[in-house]
Order: sequence, then C-alpha cells, then structure tokens
Amino acid sequence: MSIDNKLTRAQFDHVMVPNYAPSAVIPVRGEGSRVWDQSGKEYIDFAGGIAVSCLGHCHPALVNALTEQGNKLWHLSNVMTNEQALGLATRLVEHTFADKVYFANSGAEANEAALKLARRYARDKYGEQKDQIIAFDKAFHGRTFFTVSVGGQAAYSDGFGPKPQSITHIPYNDIAALEATISDKTCAIMLEPLQGEGGIIDAEPEFLKAVRALADKHNALVVFDEVQTGMGRTGHLYAYMDCPIVPDILTTAKALGGGFPIAAMITTTEIASYLKIGTHGSTYGGNPLACAVANAVFDQVNQAEVLAGVKYREQLLRDGLAKINDKYHVFSEVRGKGLLIGAVVNEAYQGRAKEFLVAATEFGLMSLVAGANVVRFTPSLVIPEQDIIEGLARFEQAVAKVAQA
Ligand SMILES: *Cc1c(COP(=O)(O)O)cnc(C)c1O
Repeated sequence: MSIDNKLTRAQFDHVMVPNYAPSAVIPVRGEGSRVWDQSGKEYIDFAGGIAVSCLGHCHPALVNALTEQGNKLWHLSNVMTNEQALGLATRLVEHTFADKVYFANSGAEANEAALKLARRYARDKYGEQKDQIIAFDKAFHGRTFFTVSVGGQAAYSDGFGPKPQSITHIPYNDIAALEATISDKTCAIMLEPLQGEGGIIDAEPEFLKAVRALADKHNALVVFDEVQTGMGRTGHLYAYMDCPIVPDILTTAKALGGGFPIAAMITTTEIASYLKIGTHGSTYGGNPLACAVANAVFDQVNQAEVLAGVKYREQLLRDGLAKINDKYHVFSEVRGKGLLIGAVVNEAYQGRAKEFLVAATEFGLMSLVAGANVVRFTPSLVIPEQDIIEGLARFEQAVAKVAQA
C-alpha cells in the first residue's frame, strides 16, 4: 500500500513537530463554504482557514487564475520582475493610500519588512537613537523573532534567547499610556486597527486620532497590520478606509491570496525610498503563481456589491447569534466588524471558548477562537445566505451541548 493511502490524524504525532494540536478531522475537499473530511462528513466553514479563504474553497475565478498561470510560468525570483506582480502592485497602489509595494509570502514576513523599514527610515533620516517601537498588549504580528517580540504576548516570544531591543508595549486604546510613552526616540507605532488574535477588539476612533497626532508630533511612523482585517474582511477593502486616520505603512496577507500564500507591505514613495537596493528581499516574494491568484482575489473582492454583502452577512450572523444567546445565555457580547466577529463568553463560561469550537466541529461547523474567551467567526466574504443559516443551526446545537454539559 502506498504511504498516501493510510494517512490518519495519528500520523501527525509521529511525523510532525509538536507545536500544533490540530483537530481530529482531516478535510480532503472543499467547495464554496462547505468542506468534506476523509469519512465524507460535511462541514460548513465559518473559519475560512483563519480569515484567509475570503472567497471560500475552490472559487472558479481563483482556480482559473491558478491553473492558467500554472501552465505559463511559476517562478522567477527577484532577479526579474513579472507581469502578475506588476499587475497586483498596480491594483494595490491604485486603490489605497500607498505608492509602493513590497511582496512577501506571509503576514509575519510583511510585518518584518515593515518593522525593518521603519527602523531604517528613522535611523537614516533622524539618527541611531530613534529606534523605539511602540506596540500593544495582546497584539499579534506573526511568529518571526522580530514580529513576535513586537506582538503583545510575552509567552510567544519568551524562551528563545535575547530579543530584539527597544520595543515598548502599552495597553490598546489607552491614549494616556501612549502620551506617556512616546518621545522623539520613537520610530514607529505598530497596531492592528482591530485586534484579531487578541480577542476581536476594535480601535476607538479617538485613540486612532491620538496615534496619528502623537506620531506626527514625534516624527514616528504609523504601521497598520491589516493582515487579518484587510482585503474586504471588515466590509471595506482595508479597515483603515473606515478609520479617521491613514497609516504610513500597511501590511496585508491572509485574504490577499484567498488561500495561496502571499503578503504585501505597502507605503509611500518617500518612506519606500529608504529600502534601497539590497537592504531587504525574499526569494519567493512576488511569485507569479501567488500574484496571479491575488489579482483574481482583488478583482472579485474589490466590488461594491461584495463589500456591501459583507455587511449584510455580518447582520445575518449577528442576528442569529443574538437569537441563540437569548435561548442559552452563554455570551456577554458579540463584537467585531464585517465578517471578523467574536462572541465573548460570559462569566459562567470563562476560559471555555474552545469547548464551543470542539462541539461545533462535532455538529459539522468549522469555527475559531481568539484567546480563551472568544469564539471567532471569519467565514468567506461570499458565503451563501443558506450556509449562514445552516451554520448557525449547527452552532446552536453546539451551544446547547456545552450549556447542558
Ligand atoms: C495572522 C496574522 C499575522 C501573521 O501572519 P502569518 O501569515 O501567519 O505570518 C500577523 N498579523 C496579524 C494581525 C494576523 O492576524
């Protein structure tokens, strides 16, 4: 028998590094917002591969873009540019504040580029002493050593030896803490406009205004990590478009490729000029296959009907969750924006968000958590209304099970 005919979840523990604890389920096929596992059991997907599969599974436009490019040209490296990368960069520049684009392969890599650029910009323009990065408690920026150190959970960055220096964490949405921390030594303030992994926490408009004003006062850059919030997730192409401020650098990944790994850092011409030839790079960044898929994603998502559809679906999801909660009283709040929604468990269920996820899987619904107290939903931006209704019915069964346990 060939190796591929006997693969089970048990094999994971034999051959994989034990840094993850995946579900017992092994999905083998997906179509739209439905997924099937090895045994043929069907799931409705409210997880979207952690806010990645913004057009569901195997969307025809993406399959087309991938197969067409797959028959033409896969890879060149940065020694030569390619039409797909130029097309995607042009789209990003035409539809955002930015003038320049750097391509990477993951959110962490895009953030790594953003942080290195912010440091280089400050150093070359103002001097060595201007190196402080201000970041926020519970923030998540990826798992490279620099990005995980800027992230706001020490548990993720401890235990790997000396950390990158001059990073200060303060509470999110705390204007006074920011005022007390920022100085002319600050080179950048990095934040998610809506914290995802940290528990679906929205930035307050007044806080954002203070971030911009204080950054300007001290010649610091504002870096928005839109890895999770970008590409239509909040009902806007980028979340900053619904904010009272515009960042200097923005990073985008996850939904940008709709399931194909790609990321980008975008910025202004002036700031970009400090990333001179040879200062940074990536073998795969701007890869034609990835950019071909991302171009198709961009053209699908960046349509008024699709973005309005996100708001419509948000309301369906919120209404359904409210009805479930009226019956079972398990959540204290449903928060978030667009299709980045968090149901916060109440006092009686503290630390037990994961139980809802596990029960949901049993009843045929894929969901996520954001920390120990938030059940997170990040479905496809074009999930059919019928799948939302059916998914909510399955979630209700899961909630009933946890509540009755
Ligand atoms: C997922 C995420 C990242 C990391 O992205 P990877 O592709 O896993 O490296 C960074 N920032 C935010 C806000 C994220 O949600």
